[in-house]
Formats: sequence, structure tokens, C-alpha cells
Amino acid sequence: MHFHVTILGTGSATPTLHRHPTAQWVMHDHDPFLVDCGEGTQVQLLRYRMRISKLKHIFISHLHGDHYYGLPGLLTSMSLGQRTEPLYLYGPRGLDEILTTHFRYSDTRLTYPLHFQETNPVAPEVLVESEHLTISSFPLRHRIACTGFLFAENPRYRNLIREKVPADASHEELHALKLGQDVRDAEGNIRFAADDFTLPPAPSRRYAFCSDTLYLPELAEHLEGVDLLYHEATFGEELRERALRTYHSTAAQAAQLASDAGAKELLLGHFSSRYKDILPLLDEAQKIFPSTLLAEEGRSFPIGYRTDSLADNLLDL
Ligand SMILES: [Zn+2]
Ligand SMILES: [Zn+2]
Repeated sequence: MHFHVTILGTGSATPTLHRHPTAQWVMHDHDPFLVDCGEGTQVQLLRYRMRISKLKHIFISHLHGDHYYGLPGLLTSMSLGQRTEPLYLYGPRGLDEILTTHFRYSDTRLTYPLHFQETNPVAPEVLVESEHLTISSFPLRHRIACTGFLFAENPRYRNLIREKVPADASHEELHALKLGQDVRDAEGNIRFAADDFTLPPAPSRRYAFCSDTLYLPELAEHLEGVDLLYHEATFGEELRERALRTYHSTAAQAAQLASDAGAKELLLGHFSSRYKDILPLLDEAQKIFPSTLLAEEGRSFPIGYRTDSLADNLLDL
């Protein structure tokens, strides 16, 4: 099952010729999710050939322009494309009002239902629960209300061992084995023991998106063991004071959080336009947390291990 994030923007504040503002395309299995939608996101989606017709959920972390100015344009283009599928939008209080006002004065009538759900800036909250994935928001600390988003795979079924699958087992019995339940006959004797025919499921994977925020050490607990932690790194340590004043983080602080949370990998982004060369930010973070990567526009980063390579001798019903 695919699980990866493609970076559409790595800049902060204003767009530059080399960096677009924040937007990310998260793919889980065959379901895409858009996280933040800075100016120019539509062009980036076209450039990297993302299929917006399949997009059902958009998450906006906060109402600074570099995280949502691309949204009215994207929503309007979907309408021009005669979209009819409902679209679910999650974001801070006021986003619906901004859009409604915009559409009223531009005399825009969307061709599809747009459902808005306000995010909670003070406590974690589940936003989407599907068969395989749960997506929730969690509070960050910024100059205005801001949340991060956590994409967590639901616990998986056990894996049937291909060579051992009993030929006479029914579909229901195989399903019971995948749930870890032994299959018994009418007398209560075990016909198939789950341990004999299945292997434990692969661990569920998690991706955390930490948008603009002060360094928040207490996030480590909430994000413990996360497979991939995206964290803003607007500044380097030489501008720690400025980071504090503007409610942003340094690369070293992002690395400290990744280390404290026991994250498997850290992905840095939201770089200040003052940094033409961002390698010093990577160096700074890797001294604290070696498994640090730099976000790069158009590049996809896998989240956790690749289960597909483990599954050769397993039967996934
Ligand atoms: Zn920002
Ligand atoms: Zn911001």
C-alpha cells in the first residue's frame, strides 16, 4: 500500500523564483490529500501531474497567505472543470467566511458541494476516519490559530501465508484468521489456528505535518515514534531569537523534536527566502538528528517502510 508525500512548495512568506509556498500532496493507497495550498499550488499540481479530480480532502493549517492563497483559485478551477463530487475542506475558523465572501463578490457558484469543517486550535481532533487511515489535527503555536495534521494508518489485519492457506477454508474463515481469530468446528475444536496460517501485520505507519510553529517540546509525546516528521525550519540557529519573535522554529529545534519524539525520519521545509543555500540548515539538524532530509519541490518521500516488498509470500485478501 503506497504511502508517500510529494512536496509542492518549500518556501515561506513570499514566493520566489526558486521556491513556492507550502503545499504537499499526500498519497495513501490510491487516495490523495492536499495539505496547505500556498499561491501557485495549481501550477505545481499541473507540473507534477497530480490528478485533482481524485482529490476529496484539503487541509489548511492556518490563514497566513503562504499556506492558503492558492485555495480560491484551485476551488474555482475545479468548478470550471465541472466537478460534481463533494469536496471536504478542513481549516481554521474564518476560512469559510473568506471563501464565501470571495465567491459572493466574484459571482462564483461552485458546481460541487464544498463541506467545511473548522479545525480545533487547542486540542487534537479526528477529522477523517476511513477504512485504512485516520487523519487528525493537533494544535501548534503560531501568531494566529494554527494546527498540524497527523496521518495515521489504522491497525492492519494479520497476513495469510500464501503456501499454508487451507484450501477448504471459506472466505469468512480466512477473514477470521486475518483478524487473529482461530476457526473452530461445530464441536468447538480448532480447525485452523490463526498463528499457524498468518503472520503478524506490518506496523501501521504515521506521517506528521508540523506547519508554522514555535518549537514545541511537548509535541514529542503526541508524535512519538512517527515514521516521517515534516517540520518547518524557517531559520538556522543564528536567528533563534528571530524565530522566537516570529513564532517559527530553527532547523536545530526541529531536529530536537524529531529526536525527542523518536521519529524515524525528519523532513525540513518552509525555508526563509534569505537562505539561497539550505545545506547549512541540513548540517545543523543532522548534528542532532542524523536521519534528516530536506524538502525539495517535486520530490516524493516514502512514509515508513515499503510493505509491498515484504508481501511476496503473503496473501492480502
Ligand atoms: Zn508560513
Ligand atoms: Zn504562518
